[in-house]
Amino acid sequence: MHTLKEKKQIENDKPEALTKDRLVGMKVIDGTGYLIGEVEDVAFTVGTSPLSLVMILKTKDHKDKDISWEEVQAAGDFVVLKPKSVAPVAPTAAATCSTCKEALTYIEQYQRWYCTRCQKYV
Ligand SMILES: [Zn+2]
Repeated sequence: MHTLKEKKQIENDKPEALTKDRLVGMKVIDGTGYLIGEVEDVAFTVGTSPLSLVMILKTKDHKDKDISWEEVQAAGDFVVLKPKSVAPVAPTAAATCSTCKEALTYIEQYQRWYCTRCQKYV
């Protein structure tokens, strides 16, 4: 049997519900760690299925900005947004041509490896 104190402890382990009151006034940081603004209000968009939650921000330059809840990565002391979709990163390991074993060149534009000796993409 749990004592009252233990019970309280267990309840505290539960994830805390994010109420509107808690969200409003929270600082919002983008995926790269920059402060965007502050949550001014929380709303539901109607006409979408499922309903989506939208945060209305007051940005640093005093503009209104809507942020869909899907863009949020985490919310604790701050609201942290997911990083914007980043361009595919070029493989860092130096690849070699399977034909001539020459070091390959990564062509950013086509996102492919090119062998200058064989003059072909691999
Ligand atoms: Zn080659």
